[in-house]
Amino acid sequence: MIDFSVPPELTALGERVRQFVIDTIVPYERDPRLTQHGPNDELRQELVELARKEGLLTPQASPRFGGKGISHIEQSVIYEAAGWSTLGPVAMNCAAPDEGNMYLLDKLTTDEQAEEFLKPVLDGAVRSVFAMTEPGGAGSDPSQLLTQARRDGDSYVISGRKWLITGANGAGTWIVMADVVDDEKRSGPTLFLAKGDDGGIVIERVMNSMDRNYVEGHGVVVFDDLRVPAANVLGEVGEAMRYAQMRLAPARLTHAMRWLGAASRAQHIALEHAKTRTAFGGPIVDHQGVGFLLADNEIALTQCRLAIWYTAWVLDQGHKGRHESSISKAFVSEELFKVVDRCIQVMGGIGVTDETPIEMIFRDIRGFRLYDGPTEVHKYAIIRRMKHVGSEAARVPGSHTV
Ligand SMILES: Cc1cc2nc3c(=O)[nH]c(=O)nc-3n(C[C@H](O)[C@H](O)[C@H](O)COP(=O)(O)OP(=O)(O)OC[C@H]3O[C@@H](n4cnc5c(N)ncnc54)[C@H](O)[C@@H]3O)c2cc1C
Repeated sequence: MIDFSVPPELTALGERVRQFVIDTIVPYERDPRLTQHGPNDELRQELVELARKEGLLTPQASPRFGGKGISHIEQSVIYEAAGWSTLGPVAMNCAAPDEGNMYLLDKLTTDEQAEEFLKPVLDGAVRSVFAMTEPGGAGSDPSQLLTQARRDGDSYVISGRKWLITGANGAGTWIVMADVVDDEKRSGPTLFLAKGDDGGIVIERVMNSMDRNYVEGHGVVVFDDLRVPAANVLGEVGEAMRYAQMRLAPARLTHAMRWLGAASRAQHIALEHAKTRTAFGGPIVDHQGVGFLLADNEIALTQCRLAIWYTAWVLDQGHKGRHESSISKAFVSEELFKVVDRCIQVMGGIGVTDETPIEMIFRDIRGFRLYDGPTEVHKYAIIRRMKHVGSEAARVPGSHTV
């Protein structure tokens, strides 16, 4: 049975999170430390301390590190509430890329690795990055990986160049994907752990992008003979693609949860505006052209929530949920973008100004159609799978192959 019932304690927690974000975090959206390259580290630290004081820091921490280990369904309630402001997840230490990184590190680190690389991230003291994408190399197709790691005694030496690396500037914990090329025993794409201040990680520049929600923006990074001990291999040599997928299925979904919160806020603002703004003899909400935009939004937001919850349920059953998360990610990212665009239309001219947060949400949400797999790549994966196993839609409900 698919059970989407939400216990009253969870609803209460969601409401507490939403209120915390509205009362305490939203005012920071006008803080000058929210820069062209996202919130800077100083602002992030201040927000993290506010969430810590409120008992809302890192709600997803697993029992391995003294947390409750919340389910994906529980996450969907909490992250949607936190996502009302893009600074909400930053404060609560459940924003990307840290949240997905913490999930992967929790699954793969040895105790020694966790102590050094994961615990400071869980505590909100340090940020982390996942470094895969390269100019001309790994991107939609990660198998085009160009960055290489060569074995040298008890170390690996990593060289290559990457871009679009979120939070690179000032990050403490690094997960770097590189191709082990000359190890006789094992080779292939591998994840390595490194520290931001290890010599050999050079931040070439921070890119100017249309979004401003990710801490310290997106960096171009050179690995200039970065030397890491062999003990810093995360998991096994040659398994990076499998681990990346392990990270991505839930990470895509948590993006969807947070963005659902942001798009719902845009809808709330647009609806209130449409009820009070008049044109041609009455409030614009009564003009069908406007009312239907908002009704379309309501339908889309409800469908997105259902898609998220269904996929969360699949993951909570212990399934990998790769196919379901692909479907949900492609659907939710496209639909939420349209929702926010329609909100701008309802607002009229002020919709494209920063008089309301809708303009910021519109800029920030655009990238979601690209990262964690562009929509077209998800469709490519979906149709490839359908060629082999057929359409899930053709199955009797309950006999699906999650
Ligand atoms: C805001 C943001 C943050 C990011 N953060 C990180 C990060 O922290 N770490 C990191 O490693 N990367 C990060 N990325 C990079 C992201 O993962 C890549 O942009 C994404 O994987 C696509 O790769 P690409 O940009 O190289 O596009 P390409 O691989 O050059 O693809 C371009 C376009 O081609 C189309 N396409 C490609 N393959 C197919 C196909 N099989 N079928 C149909 N169409 C196809 C798609 O429309 C795609 O958008 C981030 C990107 C953004 C925008």
